[in-house]
Amino acid sequence: MTTTLPHDLIRKDVRDLPDYNAGLALDRFREAYGMDCVAKLDSNESPLGPSPRAIEAMRKAAEGVSRYPDATNAALRAAIARHTGAETDRIIVGNGSEDLIGALFRAVIRLGDHVVTICPSFGLHEFGALTFGARVTKLPFEAEWSFPVEAMTAELRNAPRVLIFSSPSNPAGPVIGKDAFRAIVNAADPATLICFDEAYVEFIEPRLRFDALEILGASGKPHIVLRTFSKAYGLAGARVGYGITSTAEMTKALMKTRNPFGVNAMAAAGAIEALADTAHLDRVLHDAMAERKRVAAVLTEKGYPCAPSQTNFLFFDTGKAAQEFAEDLRRRGVLIKAWQEAPFTSWARVTMGIRAENDAFLGAVPDRSDKVA
Ligand SMILES: *Cc1c(COP(=O)(O)O)cnc(C)c1O
Repeated sequence: MTTTLPHDLIRKDVRDLPDYNAGLALDRFREAYGMDCVAKLDSNESPLGPSPRAIEAMRKAAEGVSRYPDATNAALRAAIARHTGAETDRIIVGNGSEDLIGALFRAVIRLGDHVVTICPSFGLHEFGALTFGARVTKLPFEAEWSFPVEAMTAELRNAPRVLIFSSPSNPAGPVIGKDAFRAIVNAADPATLICFDEAYVEFIEPRLRFDALEILGASGKPHIVLRTFSKAYGLAGARVGYGITSTAEMTKALMKTRNPFGVNAMAAAGAIEALADTAHLDRVLHDAMAERKRVAAVLTEKGYPCAPSQTNFLFFDTGKAAQEFAEDLRRRGVLIKAWQEAPFTSWARVTMGIRAENDAFLGAVPDRSDKVA
């Protein structure tokens, strides 16, 4: 029997949200295109996968899955505390950092609250807030992909409930400078929660790195810094992310609004080993850095403008509807992500895979038709 939903059961602001623009899983690709994927470059996953030590730890932890995991995630939080230098009671872990974005909006957003982010933006920064009935302002990057510091500081004068953005930016790739970041933090009203999403922090070149936690901590303003095991650590399928909050009190609040056993026992064990295997991480970062330079140079040569990247991906202007461009590549076994956010619907994001995958991608990309010789 089929039932119909009463027309007013689902809230209108939820009905009006677009579907999550997720990458295509490999078996779904095979089903839809009747061939194996040659290069899966649509979700910023690590082509080297996780540390073998992490896989071994997850196997071992699987033997204990009849028991609920530790609700306080003590071992993983202690490992993250050692890694970041923050106190354990300021660390919260979640079912991916996306789970924590939900937890923080759930904890603070009242209907009609104002949330400020940048454009192009990580989908959940906007849609996660809209789900709770917030009003979202998106500030565009300035020329040459510099972060819109002036526009952000101006918006902060209105004391929005939350300022949320990622640096390095997903999908664009650039990183904010230390002085610009400090200017934004200084301009924030003490009533505004600053959520700084550092999903790609590991990929930043040493000369551009700075300690955002130190600047946020010195400001005394409420904040949370988000990080993840999904990208550089290669554990996207295990679903683990963490946040470093400004106070134990905030951690406590977010523990109530997150999914209670969000981090399963296997994921927690894997994440601890992933953190410990710094040699594996170094290989991942070395490759990503070399490949993003190489691929950017070839794309530019082919006539595609690329945003500067401090991540494991590149954002480039396809010069046509990006969905069409991406579809042509899919037929050749190459998966990239067509951006669907105005005014960037001609832009696409490609993850840096291993060299052979990136070559398959470059081989499938024609010279841009309007390329200036
Ligand atoms: C990938 C990503 C995340 C979330 O990753 P999880 O897998 O949920 O930990 C969060 N923010 C940004 C900007 C990302 O690119």
